[in-house]
Amino acid sequence: MKKMNRRGASVLVLALLIVVGLFTYLHRFLDSGERWASYFSRLNSLSEGTVTDRNGVFLAGFTANDNRFNEDRATRIANYHVTGDFWDRTGTGILTNFSSQLHGYNPITGMTQTKRISMKLNVDSVLDQKAYAALADRKGCVGVVNYRTGELICMVSSPAIDPVESDPVAPEGVYINRLISASFVPGSIFKLVTAAAAIECVPTIWQKSFFCEAKDEIAGVEITCPFAHYTQDFKGALANSCNIAFAKIAVSVGQQNMVDHVRAYGFLDSHSLSGIPTAAGTYPLEFVGDPETGWSGIGQSTDLICPYSMLRYVAAIANDGILCEPKLIDDGQPAEKSVLVNPDTARTMQDLMRNNVIVTYGDNRFPGLTVCGKTGTAEVGDGTDHAWFTGFLQDEAHPYAFIVFVENGGGGLSVATPIANTVLQAAVRRGTDMEY
Ligand SMILES: [Zn+2]
Repeated sequence: MKKMNRRGASVLVLALLIVVGLFTYLHRFLDSGERWASYFSRLNSLSEGTVTDRNGVFLAGFTANDNRFNEDRATRIANYHVTGDFWDRTGTGILTNFSSQLHGYNPITGMTQTKRISMKLNVDSVLDQKAYAALADRKGCVGVVNYRTGELICMVSSPAIDPVESDPVAPEGVYINRLISASFVPGSIFKLVTAAAAIECVPTIWQKSFFCEAKDEIAGVEITCPFAHYTQDFKGALANSCNIAFAKIAVSVGQQNMVDHVRAYGFLDSHSLSGIPTAAGTYPLEFVGDPETGWSGIGQSTDLICPYSMLRYVAAIANDGILCEPKLIDDGQPAEKSVLVNPDTARTMQDLMRNNVIVTYGDNRFPGLTVCGKTGTAEVGDGTDHAWFTGFLQDEAHPYAFIVFVENGGGGLSVATPIANTVLQAAVRRGTDMEY
């Protein structure tokens, strides 16, 4: 009986300790919860951090007791995936990835210096607004990079939220930066990869002729094309975006050569955008046989690419094969340079991509611009298509490479090219006289 009492007492003491602990925890949480929610305040910084765009427009910042954003709601929303917020809700934001630097925090000493720190970005926040408006609340993204310098002048992902709102109406996937943090079925923009591989691996590619009656077979498996393109050469097949021609071209290249090129062009890797990791893509690496190699060569099969990886690739093509690694932050240093594409192949790809616009899409879609590009309409498998358009301007004063993606958006030509035109027209006017 005595034993039982003692045990009863210990249980009571234990329960009391738990309750006291719980109250202590709750008290501390209520007392400092707001500070826990903000990494900036958590560091108890006395610094002032400021993030501006390339033209010095204030985007976000903080003082010892205040977090601030640009006063204009449209600016805040369009630049949401660039800045992020003070709750770390989107992983790619500057505020999340560079909070320590903005606070003058020294990771070695563990000390925070009290000073004013400003971070200048390469993005043009007004151009981001133009791109966000052009996406018109559809899921998608736009990226524009100066291929001669690596400056990333536009990075937009839609939909976005207003970063000042603590409890926003958040559409599904709103916190994903679709330009750098996700991979999608590429469809026909992937023919840019297959074409480059063919130029290097199939010496007879320029003499070959491809016949398309909208339906064909590879090793007994049916392959289809939306149109009957009849007889076409390599250049014509890319301009027509002929599935049957490009499935056969991929088979001629061979799966291993395709894999080697996909890997060499960086599509399977995660890259560092000023220190922010980007999403890797996928491509069939195990042996899949000719029919699947054919489908993978036209951007279907199990192909998935991060839009950012395609932007790097077309930027390198535009710059004669030399990639100026894109930079989100202007740190005063020149971009790292590397040979991503064989220079001869890159120049040939430039001609092919220019030809696509001249003979298929029409220069009249891009008044006053000299666009080289490739559209894509990727079958997702649920009956919808992703709309893509990627390429670059042949314009020494405005050397911009771009990618436009609209998730489940429909046709690349009808949906993605008008967005690209809107953004590029704005970028060119912006670069000339700073007015729209
Ligand atoms: Zn065809």
